[in-house]
Amino acid sequence: MPTFEYAPAPESRSIVDIQPSYGLYIGGEMVDPIDGSRFKTVNPATEEVLSEVVAAGPQDVDRAVDAARAAYDSTWSRLSGRDRGKYLYRLARLVQERSRELAVLESIDNGKPIRESRDVDVPLVAAHFFYYAGWADKLDYAGFGPGPRPLGVAAQVIPWNFPLLMLAWKIAPALACGNTVVLKPAETTPLTALAFADICQQADLPPGVVNILTGAGETGRALVEHPGVDKVAFTGSTEVGRQIARSVAGTRKKVTLELGGKAANVVFDDAPLDQAVEGIVNGIFFNQGHVCCAGSRLLVQESVADELLDGLKRRLTTLRLGDPLDKNTDIGAINSAEQLDKIRMLSEVGETEGAERWSPPCALPERGFWFPPTLFTGVSQSHRIAREEIFGPVLSVLTFRTPAEAVEKANNTPYGLSAGVWTDKGSRILWMAQQLRAGVVWANTFNRFDPTSPFGGYKESGYGREGGRHGLRAYLDV
Ligand code: NDP
Repeated sequence: MPTFEYAPAPESRSIVDIQPSYGLYIGGEMVDPIDGSRFKTVNPATEEVLSEVVAAGPQDVDRAVDAARAAYDSTWSRLSGRDRGKYLYRLARLVQERSRELAVLESIDNGKPIRESRDVDVPLVAAHFFYYAGWADKLDYAGFGPGPRPLGVAAQVIPWNFPLLMLAWKIAPALACGNTVVLKPAETTPLTALAFADICQQADLPPGVVNILTGAGETGRALVEHPGVDKVAFTGSTEVGRQIARSVAGTRKKVTLELGGKAANVVFDDAPLDQAVEGIVNGIFFNQGHVCCAGSRLLVQESVADELLDGLKRRLTTLRLGDPLDKNTDIGAINSAEQLDKIRMLSEVGETEGAERWSPPCALPERGFWFPPTLFTGVSQSHRIAREEIFGPVLSVLTFRTPAEAVEKANNTPYGLSAGVWTDKGSRILWMAQQLRAGVVWANTFNRFDPTSPFGGYKESGYGREGGRHGLRAYLDV
């Protein structure tokens, strides 16, 4: 139990206006589907139905790709970088202006705590649009030679863990480089993408530059396989990433894939342990652990393991789980019943395979999808909970004795998205960063993001980079 109770501090949801049903955003307007069906989207914290949205069909996909092509040919590819930049700055400012509304909507649709959507997700969304707005008229100086050309129409498919942030990671660089887009948000989190459609209208973005198709996996598949698409950008599971890589192989489409991870967070015996505890909590319990780069494997040096675990358990007892709209909440709802089943299943496998499971005393709300913060000790490298992406608030703890052993264990994974190092020694940080096969290595911190910094994986975590100057390459014909 927390050391003392906090009075509830709920953020008002009256700022959001969720419509009973939505169409598709194609050619600058909300339209009814041609061959799509409808499905309901729910609040994962309460199971309340929020709205009805369209699962776009193949003809809807055709229409959206045609609209994006027409906008590319007639307007967007002909605008100067300076003029594209103006639109992007306008989008960034509108996101800032509507930040409270977007944060509340994201928390309602996704289940993440308002503290995170308000302080992390939405500010980073605005930051991405500001950052790439700045690049739009400077592409000649980005290091890809003079006059780099856009690719054309980008098909972008994003997951449910950071719905609006992933939208920004995809749309901002694509537009800055002169491409037009058709984006499909995840089935369980369509609402902030639809709010973004409204922002595009408010910004007077030329019709067809951004098109948003809601739907499930079938819509995503039809979109990435569409012959009118020049570029595919996907973030999600490694399994679907493989299918996409297969489906575009042999076509002219350019692809970037940002897939799963099983990051090691490595704590050496000279690390500031209190700080490391905060970093471990942020690494795996931020966003309920629904983070591709989550620090889901804690590797701790044996001599400090007991002390660190005592501190970590003490800290976990103070985390507040509950209403995502309450400003005191640290841990929100699991995004869907399916994801909850997967987390439960892998946690049971962890116990069956012999690891020791621990959670702080923690009352779970009756309705909605919830899972307590959980850690497993006595984990060995062969356990499934040490190898597979659980994508939930579950930490697997392993120990090591020497730096070489830490490196070997950290790299013993098919993934390679991120890693963390906790130590007092700068030289050890640099040595570890060279040894670790991970796209991002955080030192004495974790889960820090910035639009100027490239992000992406090695091995089965995908290919291509998003963010920073590197992120431009994915949307230019270079
Ligand atoms: P998916 O990879 O299935 O979903 C990501 C996106 O791709 C969604 O928009 C999805 O639509 C869409 N999609 C699904 N199938 C296809 C397809 N054949 N072609 C094109 N697009 C497709 O992830 P899930 O949501 O199913 O989650 C499953 C697991 O994936 C999680 O448990 C987690 O381990 C991992 N995951 C990893 C993420 C990461 O960033 N690394 C992000 C999300 C999940 P729809 O949502 O409608 O199915």
